[in-house]
Amino acid sequence: MGNKRVIVVGGVAGGATCAARLRRLDENAEIVVFDKGPHVSFANCGLPYFVGGAIHEENKLLLASPELFRRRFNIAVRTWHEVVAIDRRSRAVKVKDLQTGTESEEHYDALVLSPGAAPIRPAWPGIDLPGIFTLRNVPDSIEIRRWIETRSPKTAVVVGGGFIGLEMAENLHHRGIAVTIVELASQVMPPLDAEMSEYARLRLESNRINLELNEGVVGFEQNADGGLTVLTQSGAKIHADLVVLSIGVRPETKLASEAGLEIGDRGGIRVDDQMRTSDPNILAIGDAVEVRNWVTGQWELIPLAGPANRQGRVAADVICGRDTKFRGVQGTAVCGFFGLTIALTGATEKSLRRAGVEDFEKIYLHPGHHVSYYPGAKPIHLKLLFRRSDGLVLGAQAVGEEGVERRIDVIAQAIQMKATVFDLEEAELCYAPQYGSAKDPVNFAGMIAANVIRGDVELAPWSELPTTPALIIDVRGPHEYRGGHIDGAVHIPLRELRGRLGEFDKSREIWVSCQIGQRSYYAYRLLSQRGFKVRSLSGGYDSYRVLYPEGL
Ligand SMILES: Cc1cc2nc3c(=O)[nH]c(=O)nc-3n(C[C@H](O)[C@H](O)[C@H](O)COP(=O)(O)OP(=O)(O)OC[C@H]3O[C@@H](n4cnc5c(N)ncnc54)[C@H](O)[C@@H]3O)c2cc1C
Repeated sequence: MGNKRVIVVGGVAGGATCAARLRRLDENAEIVVFDKGPHVSFANCGLPYFVGGAIHEENKLLLASPELFRRRFNIAVRTWHEVVAIDRRSRAVKVKDLQTGTESEEHYDALVLSPGAAPIRPAWPGIDLPGIFTLRNVPDSIEIRRWIETRSPKTAVVVGGGFIGLEMAENLHHRGIAVTIVELASQVMPPLDAEMSEYARLRLESNRINLELNEGVVGFEQNADGGLTVLTQSGAKIHADLVVLSIGVRPETKLASEAGLEIGDRGGIRVDDQMRTSDPNILAIGDAVEVRNWVTGQWELIPLAGPANRQGRVAADVICGRDTKFRGVQGTAVCGFFGLTIALTGATEKSLRRAGVEDFEKIYLHPGHHVSYYPGAKPIHLKLLFRRSDGLVLGAQAVGEEGVERRIDVIAQAIQMKATVFDLEEAELCYAPQYGSAKDPVNFAGMIAANVIRGDVELAPWSELPTTPALIIDVRGPHEYRGGHIDGAVHIPLRELRGRLGEFDKSREIWVSCQIGQRSYYAYRLLSQRGFKVRSLSGGYDSYRVLYPEGL
């Protein structure tokens, strides 16, 4: 291998990984990393917790230094250096030293772009007023902390209720600040299906986070007391001593587009499965690129640290002549706040509908994270999406207090291996009473879905509940029924059902429901074998409460 010169733009998740792997593969390469910020390899994901105080010291966020890169890997890292232009013909980049203002030209044999994505900061009136922040890097988090420590804000508005917004809301709350989240969508956590986000809404509200959903910010005004007024579409005015904007990120594509590299329809740098851009000497990775969704095959922007790291490895391999390929991204993600964990992987119902996929089915289940007889079992609310025709697992979302991310990780790997619900049924997972169940929630999900495909149960479409002419029977115990039930449901406990079959009209369809979907399955089996046209409401009353929080 010759002494090739590799330039990496951006030295954090994707760029730092790529540079370090390049060195492991090629001891002779000259590797130079430029980052326009003061740090390389910092922990972006830890920033909200630094603001909140769970992480005390700034240096805990710094995973590596330029010095470490030089000593350990013989890699030159130049912070405060912005790459401002690419000359593809002469294979050189123009680099500006942000501390001295001088510019230089640097030649490359291979160029890796990992410039990330910038927080969106719309041109709203008042957007540049003091006290309005975005959070992308360590200096941003220091500024927010300083604002909190010097101004002692009492109120904050977090604009955007996605992952970072919710993490920030929790961390500001821990600082004793009253937080309002303003979110344009009708739900928090927009990547989730709406009903699964209900658990998040309830948890936020029970922790006194004020939610303004279906509401957009249109501008800011400075108040005489030094605070801000946040102006919204509906005409509301919300007082805030601090504002954090977390309304998404936009891929940094300026360098690439000015160099004439192909930009995809979703606005990210277009790359092939070896992370090559439309110029084979230039590779791009991380938040700046569009990725193929592993499940739907569509181009998407999925800004996550795991994919950025994996892409960094692939790019290094490819530069060193290896035939490594990037599989795509399935959007496996987790977020936690106020003791609640939310995780998802693969497709959601809304992403399948957006992609025009019709061949799918969904199930809900609410198993305990471990056996119920061992103290402390917590429910996991799980939604599984799978292909109806062959059981291919398409996606899963789960919410709960314990064991959530473990189940989603198992299903994530199943999706990557193109497993079916029959594989989930057979999955052999860890079990002891304090950790799980002999039938793990993942097995349960597989069993329920497999029952649907085998025709052992037919599911009632939740969406048709308000208009169905079917007779809804709630087969739970009297106590549970009295505690709340589906509007209009007739109460016949499972133990009485066999003796009361004569009461039903065989020409009228019956939908059975219980608390979580288990007893309704038993009722389904009973009624269907007795000749009734019957369907079961997946997930029972626990699902009803999030699907129809206001009732029918
Ligand atoms: C607050 C926060 C929390 C997050 N939490 C999570 C999480 O919990 N889980 C998760 O999976 N993901 C999380 N992410 C997302 C994750 O951090 C990103 O997906 C990941 O860092 C992307 O890596 P990257 O290399 O593409 O870009 P980055 O890590 O953003 O690095 C890009 C670097 O390029 C530099 N740069 C840009 N342009 C130039 C230029 N022209 N010249 C020189 N340097 C340049 C920038 O200064 C920056 O340092 C979080 C992000 C943030 C901001």
